[in-house]
Amino acid sequence: MTTASLMTVLHPPLTRGDRARRATVTLLTLVLIAFPFLGHAFQGLGFDLDIGDDDVDSVANALAYATLALGLNIVVGFAGLLDLGYAAFFAIGAYTYGIFTSFQIMPAWSPFWEPLAALGLVAKYHQAAGDLVHFTLSFWLALPIAAGITALCGVLFGTPTLRLRGDYLAIVTLGFGEIVPIVARNVPSVTNGAAGLNGVMAPTLFGFNFRVDPTPYYYVGVLLTAFLIFVSFRLRDSRIGRAWMAIREDETAAGAMGVDHVKTKLMAFAIGAAFAGMTGVFFVAKLQTATPDMFGFPVSVMILVMVVFGGMGSVWGVTLGAFVLSLLQSWFLPSLTQWAHGIGAAVNNDWLQHIDLARSTELIFGIILVVMMLFRREGLIPATRKQDALSFEAQNVAGVRRGGFDAETTRKVLGDMSHAPGKLLDVRGVTVKFGGLTALNKVDLVVPAGGVVAVIGPNGSGKSTLFNVITGLVPADSGSIQFDGAEILGLKSHEILQRGIARTFQNIRLFANLQVIDNIMIGQHARLKTGLLGAVLRGPGARREERAALSRTLDIVTLFGNRLAPRLTQVVSHLSYANRRRVEIARALATRPKLLLLDEPTAGMNPAETLELAEQIKTLHEQGLSVLIIEHKLDVVTRLADKVVVLDHGEKLTEGTPDAVRRNEDVLRAYLGRAATDAANAA
Ligand code: ADP
Ligand code: MG
Repeated sequence: MTTASLMTVLHPPLTRGDRARRATVTLLTLVLIAFPFLGHAFQGLGFDLDIGDDDVDSVANALAYATLALGLNIVVGFAGLLDLGYAAFFAIGAYTYGIFTSFQIMPAWSPFWEPLAALGLVAKYHQAAGDLVHFTLSFWLALPIAAGITALCGVLFGTPTLRLRGDYLAIVTLGFGEIVPIVARNVPSVTNGAAGLNGVMAPTLFGFNFRVDPTPYYYVGVLLTAFLIFVSFRLRDSRIGRAWMAIREDETAAGAMGVDHVKTKLMAFAIGAAFAGMTGVFFVAKLQTATPDMFGFPVSVMILVMVVFGGMGSVWGVTLGAFVLSLLQSWFLPSLTQWAHGIGAAVNNDWLQHIDLARSTELIFGIILVVMMLFRREGLIPATRKQDALSFEAQNVAGVRRGGFDAETTRKVLGDMSHAPGKLLDVRGVTVKFGGLTALNKVDLVVPAGGVVAVIGPNGSGKSTLFNVITGLVPADSGSIQFDGAEILGLKSHEILQRGIARTFQNIRLFANLQVIDNIMIGQHARLKTGLLGAVLRGPGARREERAALSRTLDIVTLFGNRLAPRLTQVVSHLSYANRRRVEIARALATRPKLLLLDEPTAGMNPAETLELAEQIKTLHEQGLSVLIIEHKLDVVTRLADKVVVLDHGEKLTEGTPDAVRRNEDVLRAYLGRAATDAANAA
């Protein structure tokens, strides 16, 4: 299969579903733009649609929730970090604008303020008792400033806490969400305490003051939402977005593939916070007041429900989810209440006549969430589309290659593999203890540059632990590990990958809910450069880099013949066991390794597949890649390895050529559990 024909797998012609989707989005956008005038327009035509200012205001609020949901979606949906205190960032953004425009925060005037007054950021406010400072931060300036401040708060809060995972992170964010409103309540000199900030300035644009007319706010909301949807998509389909998803799917594997957890998570937190910060400015400008109650735990939960309801990780989904739930609250529940009252009056039921559904919003949200979890866990618009099984033709687009990988493509994929002769990896006296258990005891091992070394030994002898300590996943108690002449013991796993050690895992650790292509693209993370800004702007440099990465991915896929090519856009959890192993190897090759660690790569493969893989590893070796392989199948070991290291109970039993090791009595006793003579008899 050629790279060109693979492109058709990646960019299939638009299906009817895609066209319908595009048409829907276009239509909704037009309706959204026309919405404030629809009432008048239809009135002109003789219909009474009854769209008033309150309705425009309700939709403007729904837009604010949509932007919040989009921000939380980056944290929870993309990066998989459960944040229960997201409203805290909303509050920080809101107070940023509130404090710097409210008439309630007015320190005494001093010459210090003169330069700021010249810039138009503050104004002198004359009073009999002495002049005061009135902050007059422009709304338009406040948006990016609040985004910056909240992003910084996200980083400051995230740095110590983001090393926590799952439940622990949820608890800490819950605490943060509680703390911020409490602080707002308790520093009245800055926030006016529980009473909140009133008299927040309305935005002005070219001399036009928004005051309390909902329509201009509505359009700002539409623009803000559109902007954040755009940013969400740009980030999702970039190196950064892929790294977030890698962390969401499997943090350990992400690290081993070169993704820096701390940095990547902080980026998600900061971007999510920035979205909330901007929304805070918008919300407070619209309401012209900010009180601590507006940002409590219920708000965080509501936004989270919107994200889950709409579809975690789905940009359109969370936007829709926020809209539906927000309008449910402001439109449908009041109407429903009125109907209930009507029915109550008709049937003379006292309870129905006095019910107020809008007061039970939280209950109703709860019920919606439970129903959703039971019947449609992936949300209104799921982040990943359902996939059809491959057709017979699609599965057979190219023949299986015998005799390993195509040499030329392998050379292209591996890049420059020239190396000075000597030790590439030098493990010396490494000891790893898990509590009382010594998993590795003073193990020495050398992989010469360009060599293939096999590690064998009974189950539990410490082979995988050896790989884990080399790749920085478990710490060593003593010893040293030199790679390419430099110490790597103590480095983080992503740093070790950057140096050029890639690995596969004994129990396959792919990014299960991502496509084959994304898995391989994530493998290139450490070799690409595009950052947050680059991803959003997507300039020529970023685009070129992405194209090159894609073309390299396709090269790697073509190595495996028709095994992976037709499955390029399949979610890896749908693949067969052998194909998942292949994707894992492809992902490791994508990292441009100098040394490849394979942990039982042929486990679960049939003899033909095993042979195929052995030949492929051989090609890699012939093209200059050094390999350290854990393998039980002795024929594979004999075929590939220059040297075999035998581990038993965490100690190195012996090492030598495959033949010598095969005849070694100690090895037979430890490995096969019988004496050499028995083995001879059996043979
Ligand atoms: P092998 O790969 O040779 O089968 P492992 O390296 O997986 O063996 O395991 C070696 C020993 O270390 C086993 O006894 C295993 O139970 C123990 N072990 C491995 N990882 C851990 C861990 N993270 N915590 C505690 N014990 C572990
Ligand atoms: Mg193992």
